[in-house]
Formats: sequence, C-alpha cells, structure tokens
Amino acid sequence: MNRGNRNIVIIGGGITGVCCAYYIANHEKFNRSRDSITLFESSGIASAASGKASGFLSLEWHGPATSSLAKLSYNLHRELAEKYDGAKQWGYRALDTWSVKIDEHCKEPDHLPESIEWIDSNIVEKVTRLGTKKDTGQVHPYKFCHFLVKETSKIADFTIIKGHVTNVEENEVEYRLLEEEPYEPDEDDEISDEAELHTLHSMEATDVIVATGPWTPRLLPELRISGARIHSILVDLPFKLSGNAAFTEITFEDGTTAAPEFYAREDEMYICGEFDDEPLPELSSETKVNDEKCKWIKSCADHYHECFRQSDIKLRQACYLPISNTTGAPMLGKMTDSVYVAAAHGCWGITLGPGTGKVMAELVLDGEVKSASIDLLDPKYCM
Ligand SMILES: Cc1cc2nc3c(=O)[nH]c(=O)nc-3n(C[C@H](O)[C@H](O)[C@H](O)COP(=O)(O)OP(=O)(O)OC[C@H]3O[C@@H](n4cnc5c(N)ncnc54)[C@H](O)[C@@H]3O)c2cc1C
Repeated sequence: MNRGNRNIVIIGGGITGVCCAYYIANHEKFNRSRDSITLFESSGIASAASGKASGFLSLEWHGPATSSLAKLSYNLHRELAEKYDGAKQWGYRALDTWSVKIDEHCKEPDHLPESIEWIDSNIVEKVTRLGTKKDTGQVHPYKFCHFLVKETSKIADFTIIKGHVTNVEENEVEYRLLEEEPYEPDEDDEISDEAELHTLHSMEATDVIVATGPWTPRLLPELRISGARIHSILVDLPFKLSGNAAFTEITFEDGTTAAPEFYAREDEMYICGEFDDEPLPELSSETKVNDEKCKWIKSCADHYHECFRQSDIKLRQACYLPISNTTGAPMLGKMTDSVYVAAAHGCWGITLGPGTGKVMAELVLDGEVKSASIDLLDPKYCM
C-alpha cells in the first residue's frame, strides 16, 4: 500500500480505540481528503468495560509510569468537555471523592457531608476526603465513546466494521464479518448470504493499532494481559445526586466485609462490586452476568440507606478489567514496523482514554510521542 495514502486500522471499539480514532482524525498530519481510518469492533462500540465502567476520573492517583499520561488525559477530558458541552453530552462533571467506613452499631458517627444523602449519617464511623472537584471527576463512558465516534465520522473517512479480527500481520489484518448492518460495502462487494458473513476477509493497512483490552493476547500472544470480571449495578434514587464518589468499607454482623464503590451520576447511582475468576469469553457480547452477584451488591447498598432498600436494580452488568500481568501498567507502543498496541489500562482506562488516543496518534503519525512521557509503558516490559 502507498504510504502517502494511509489506511489506519484500529482493532477494538472501546475507549482506547475510539480515542485513537478521534485524535488521529484531528492530527495535522492526517490528510482528511486522502487518508482513512477503519475500526473493527466485534461486539459494539463500548460494549465491554469502556461502556460499563463507572467513569471516574482522577488526576493524581497514578504511579510514575502513568502520571504524565494521566495529567495529559485529565486535561484532555476537560478540554473535550468544554469544546462539546460534555456535561450535557456525556455527563462530565467534577466530583468530591471520599473514603467512608460504615459501622451499623456506630456510637459516635463521624461528620458526613450533607451532599451525600444516600448514606445514613448515623452509621458512618469514619470519613476521609480522597479527592476534590479540582482533581476528581466523572464521565458516562458509554455516552463519551459514542459521542467521539460521531465526531470522528464528521471529520474523517472513518468506517466501522462489525467484524472479529482473527489475525494481525505486517500491513494486513484478517477478519470475519459478524453482521452486515454497520458494514457499508461497495456495490460490487455486497455480502449476499450467511455463508459469506463467516468467510475470512483481509484488509491492507499502513498502520494497525491493537486496542482490544483484555483480548489483546489473542492477537498478540507475546503480551501478558489478562481480564478480571467485575459486576456492577445501576439504581435510580428518588432525588438528584450531587457530585460525589465514595470508596466504602462495611463489616456485617457475621464478621464478613465488603467494599462497594459508589459513583453518583446526576440521575442514577452506579455501584460496583469485586472481581472474580470467570474466564474471558471469545466475544465481549458473550460476557455472562451473574444475577446473584448483582443482588449481592444491592444487598450491601441496602445497609447504607433507606433509599436503596426502596429502590430496585435498574441495570445489572459485568465486564472485564484489562490487566498487565507483568507491570500492572498499560502498554502503549510499537510492536513491529506497522503494528502498534494500546492496551492493559487496568482500572484507569477511562481516565487515560483521551491521553492514550493523543499519544498513539503522535506515535503513528509523527513517529514519536511529544505530549507525555510513556517510556515505562513500552510493550517490551509486558512480554
Ligand atoms: C467495573 C469496572 C469499572 C471501571 N471503572 C473505571 C473508572 O471509574 N475509571 C477509569 O479510569 N477506568 C475504569 N475502569 C477501567 C476501564 O473501564 C478500562 O481500563 C477501559 O475501559 C479499557 O478500555 P479498552 O478500550 O482498552 O478495552 P475494552 O473496553 O475492553 O474494549 C476492547 C474492545 O475490543 C473489542 N475486541 C476485542 N477483540 C477483538 C477482535 N479480535 N476484533 C474486533 N474487536 C475486538 C471488544 O469487543 C471491546 O469492545 C473500570 C473497569 C471495570 C471493569
């Protein structure tokens, strides 16, 4: 393929892949009249962790490997929100963040901020501030990803293929189509029958970015990344929720403990539980949701306030955290001349999404990263 006429292929339509597409489309060296971006997604944009995460953003809580990227990304989240009215479009807002220890037999309750109406102040043993509206915030990650897809489509030749990539080679990917619908074939390239949908296709690419979260080793087996399933629920509460997140701890009568995390969105409460060892399925759409685990999260929340006891679960969901088994940090960088990886963002992929997109765009189009220091995130540390 002529390198002056780029087709940049991105595999994975989570926040990482979508942010890569957006920042590539906005890069000065991306020629909008000549170059194209093709994104492969096997289950739907933000169908995995990127649509089911709480969407918490933190400026400060990052180690030396990611602190520069986190700073860049946190500021880009703010910039995007200012540019596109993120508050309205994807629920962007600043948060106060707390650690709250619950004791249902508490004798001298600690002072709970009045804006946290969803914890009974009599059972609060200890409250510690972890973050302020200056350094913690939130987005609705599903809405954020879908918004960026729309914006990218407006400015670039950007095609999304609902297909499962099965192999990545130098300047080429092989894939199976999963659905005709989002695919817009040329007249003479029509998908005629079911058999055709399952045929192996290939596409040439000047550059390939693998952004497949926990599924990355299935395409790049040398990378040591795994996935840990986590359940979460959404609950409607009978009042508007102020911007607070709470990392909590509770000990029950029988001595068992739980640490549910609460993220108050304006119109719903997101609560997530703990991870388990359910193996990663082939496709994100095949992720199993265990009803009992969701009920357990709700039963924990019921201890916190009457408002939970009077509400039902609105949505039960599960998704996989992408974890690097070697460094615990994301890996961003070049694998071969034309293949790049951006994966293993752990519990910070939403915070780090725009920064990741920006540095990957620089790596692909400038050949070097200028906006943040990502030296310690080189994929060689994750093999
Ligand atoms: C419960 C939970 C809560 C979280 N909360 C937060 C939070 O509050 N703040 C924060 O910063 N981070 C949070 N995270 C972490 C964050 O969600 C992830 O790090 C981030 O979403 C990873 O994004 P990704 O795009 O790299 O991967 P994913 O979101 O996993 O997306 C990968 C995509 O690739 C597709 N794919 C895989 N293989 C193929 C293939 N072969 N062909 C085509 N497509 C393929 C999948 O279908 C999927 O859509 C949370 C994670 C979990 C699990």
